[in-house]
Amino acid sequence: MVKVVKCPVCAKRLMDMLSAKEANLQIKCPKCKKVISVSLIDNQIHGEAV
Ligand SMILES: [Zn+2]
Repeated sequence: MVKVVKCPVCAKRLMDMLSAKEANLQIKCPKCKKVISVSLIDNQIHGEAV
């Protein structure tokens, strides 16, 4: 099962993430240049601009 991680600021697709129990990462959005902190817990993705 793949989840699409989207930028919470501009909704640009950042990456696909395979299901994971728990993950934390930061991605720089290529469109709006914001650093997005993505956390995934029990397949719920939460992203927010840092
Ligand atoms: Zn963005």
